[in-house]
Amino acid sequence: MVDAADLVAFRKHLEGANTVAITSHRSPDADAVGTSLALARFLRSSGKDVTCLLPDAPDEALDWMEGVEDIVLFDRDPGKAQDILHRADVLFALDYNGMGRLGPMADAARSATGTWLMVDHHMGPEDFPAAQVHDARCSSTAELLWGVIAGLGGKDAVEPVMASLLYAGMMTDTGSFRFASVSAETHRVIAEMMDRGLQHTPVHEAIFGEQPMDRMKLHAFAVVERMEVHPEFQTAFIHLTAEDMARFNYRAGYTEGLVNKALGVAGVKVAVFAKQSTDRVKMSFRSVGKYSVRDLAEQHFDGGGHNNAAGGASNESIGMVMARLRGLLPEIAAGLKAAEEGMS
Ligand code: 5GP
Ligand code: MN
Repeated sequence: MVDAADLVAFRKHLEGANTVAITSHRSPDADAVGTSLALARFLRSSGKDVTCLLPDAPDEALDWMEGVEDIVLFDRDPGKAQDILHRADVLFALDYNGMGRLGPMADAARSATGTWLMVDHHMGPEDFPAAQVHDARCSSTAELLWGVIAGLGGKDAVEPVMASLLYAGMMTDTGSFRFASVSAETHRVIAEMMDRGLQHTPVHEAIFGEQPMDRMKLHAFAVVERMEVHPEFQTAFIHLTAEDMARFNYRAGYTEGLVNKALGVAGVKVAVFAKQSTDRVKMSFRSVGKYSVRDLAEQHFDGGGHNNAAGGASNESIGMVMARLRGLLPEIAAGLKAAEEGMS
C-alpha cells in the first residue's frame, strides 16, 4: 500500500522538475519495463520531459509494450544514457533498490546530480533516494505504481495502455497471480483497471501465447540434458553453457521461466538455474515454502531478491559455480529442514 506522506514528498520533488529520467534494473523483466513505460506516460501527460533508461535490452516478448522502442539502452548508447542521467532533475529507480542492480550503468547513475525517487518491492533498500514508495510485501512494483499514479493524478489517469503495462508487471511478478504475495489489494487494483478499460487477455497472449521455436527447443534441451535433480536434498539445478545457448540462437528472455521447470519436479523445494553470459554467470533461485533463497543468493552469490525468488551472479566459470552449488546441497537441505520445523 502507498503511504500518503510518501506521495506528498513525490509531489514536492516533481513539482519543480522539468526533466525526468526513469531507470530500472539490468535484464529488465515485465515489471521493470512495464512500470517504466507506464510512469513515463503519466509524467508526460503532466508536461514533463521524460526518458526511460535501461542497462540492457528487455526480452523480445515485451516488444508489444508501447514506447519500448524509445527506451535508451546503456549498453548500446552509453554516451547518450550518461547525458540523460546527468541532465535529469528527477531520477526514478523502479523495481530495484540498490545501484548494483544497474550493472555497468551503476557508475553513471551514482554520479547523477538530480533527486532520486524510488518505487520498489524488494527487501533491504539502499538509502540513495530522497523519497520512496517501498513495500517488500507487495507482489510487484506495478501494483505500487498504480497507487502512486492514482494518488498523484487520480484513478482515471490510468488509461487502458498504461493499465496493460502495469498488468503485465503484476501478472509476471505473481506467476500469473499464483504466489503467496498476491493480496486482495492486488485483485482490487486489477478490478479498478478493468473498470477503466484494461484488456487483460492480450497481455497474457503477448507474453505467454506463443514463443520462438528456438526458445522452446532450448527449454526442452535444458530439461533433458542439463537438469540435475538431487531428491535427497529436495533440490534441482539447471545450467546452460554459452555453447548451449549459441546452439539455440539465444536471445534476451529465452531462459525466462526455465527455473520453474526445475522447481516443478515432484518433491523439489529449491531450484537454481545458472547460465553463462559474456562476463559472468547469472543465477535464478526459487523455493516453495518458508526456506529463503534470498539468504542463499545473498550469502554465496552476491545477490538478493525475495524469500521465494532471488537472483545472483558470479565471475567464476559455469563449472565452478555448479560445483559450488553442489557443495551447498547439505546446507540447503538443513535450511529446508529448519524452515519446516519453524526454526528459521
Ligand atoms: P529472476 O530470477 O527472475 O531474474 O529474479 C528473481 C528475483 O531476484 C527478482 O525479484 C529480482 O529482482 C531479484 N534478483 C535477480 N538477480 C538479482 C541480483 O543479481 N541481485 C539482487 N539483489 N537481486 C536479484
Ligand atoms: Mn518486480
